[in-house]
Amino acid sequence: MTTAESNYPDSYYLHTANSIKHRSQLTESIDADVCIIGGGYTGLLAALTLSEKNYRVVLLEANKIGWGASGRNGGQVGSGHNKKIDQLEKDYGKSLARELWNLSEYAKKIVKDRIIDHQINCDLRHGNMTISNDPKDDVEHSHYVEKLNKDYDYDSIRYVDQEEVYDIFHSPFFKGGGSLDVGGMHLHPLNYALGLADAAERQGVKIYENSRVLDYSKDATSDVTTDHGKVRAKMVVLACNAYLDKLEKRIAGKIMPINNFILATEPLEESEARYINRDNVCAHDNKFHVHYFRMSEDNRLLFGGGENYSTKFPKDLKSYVRKTMLDVFPNLKKTKIDYAWGGTIAVTANRMPHLGRLDSNVYFAHGFSGHGIAMASLAGTVLAEAIDGSTGRLDVFNKVKIPTFPGGTFLRWPGFYLGMIYYSIKDRL
Ligand SMILES: Cc1cc2nc3c(=O)[nH]c(=O)nc-3n(C[C@H](O)[C@H](O)[C@H](O)COP(=O)(O)OP(=O)(O)OC[C@H]3O[C@@H](n4cnc5c(N)ncnc54)[C@H](O)[C@@H]3O)c2cc1C
Repeated sequence: MTTAESNYPDSYYLHTANSIKHRSQLTESIDADVCIIGGGYTGLLAALTLSEKNYRVVLLEANKIGWGASGRNGGQVGSGHNKKIDQLEKDYGKSLARELWNLSEYAKKIVKDRIIDHQINCDLRHGNMTISNDPKDDVEHSHYVEKLNKDYDYDSIRYVDQEEVYDIFHSPFFKGGGSLDVGGMHLHPLNYALGLADAAERQGVKIYENSRVLDYSKDATSDVTTDHGKVRAKMVVLACNAYLDKLEKRIAGKIMPINNFILATEPLEESEARYINRDNVCAHDNKFHVHYFRMSEDNRLLFGGGENYSTKFPKDLKSYVRKTMLDVFPNLKKTKIDYAWGGTIAVTANRMPHLGRLDSNVYFAHGFSGHGIAMASLAGTVLAEAIDGSTGRLDVFNKVKIPTFPGGTFLRWPGFYLGMIYYSIKDRL
């Protein structure tokens, strides 16, 4: 299958996908208990969980399963949220911080259990490192580890000093220590999404691709309309993330789309791969504009870095990301870059996910702010639980207020853009 036929970006993930199915477009009018809009992790986990509870579920995807961030991301499954535990406690108090931490542990369990239960072949491995670029951050790293060990009974994480960081990655870029979390994982993101879709179909979910939802009616039974068909559904789940656009203006101002880019080198020799990643972990630094990397199963370096806030990706993505990769791994100067691609993330103003209920029959989840493998998997599950009458986990998320970006739907760009520029300059300094 060519990428044009599949409509996926030409990524390493596409070339190593287990199997890309052609699912039909919706061309008729059908009924469902729940209509899910969006075929990423959020939509797929909601669909799978609801169908296990005997709901008749239809999932509509504008492109292909995993076409969005779920099929393009860095594959890093971290613990916790996109705010460190101290910050969670400061912002929301110790009790809610604990509830949020418990949810994040449940999120990792969902990912792992789904992979095991449905035998999804997606190169799952343990080991997730946070590294620092500045020795001044070492105190913060060791404090973070100690806090998780002592106050949260989480002993899968340990502090790693600067010397060991160098021994693991041999990168002159990282000038501080870090933490190694063996409860964190990494995986092939597109194969995870494709495996979830297969599992959902086996459970009875009807999935339609190339079926963009144009509108949905806000009635007790909703008419969800695509170009060529319609679903009449008792419940609707919006799982569109960064691509929500104008489909639901009431929540669009809570998220901002950001583009982020990844490359895959040619396969490295085993010794080269172990030189730059001794323990085959995934890793990211603590810059605002994060650098992240891991090895693929065939020993390519998958390296992410660089982002923009435009509707377009840079033209020459390979050169664009390579420049940053060489800052981190200058020894790869002669290494060929085989693939480079971009994806779009939805971020919220406080980097916490935004999920909830809009009308009595409309649920949504988005804004995982680059932390979505675990969080979107959790969000889909939590929405399904809420639709089925168990709102406990959704209630926890609803205690966290998500600010609206100033300027509303259309005028929010300028302030956001200036903020991003400010943090970029801070990173460089
Ligand atoms: C480059 C990159 C790197 C990342 N790295 C990581 C990482 O290492 N670790 C991590 O945890 N997270 C990472 N993320 C974030 C993570 O991928 C996302 O948070 C997660 O995939 C979101 O899943 P989702 O299902 O909510 O959205 P998506 O996967 O984006 O899915 C939304 C889907 O909705 C569909 N859609 C939208 N509108 C409509 C419509 N009107 N009708 C029908 N369908 C529609 C889209 O086509 C899309 O397929 C990264 C993201 C990117 C882009």
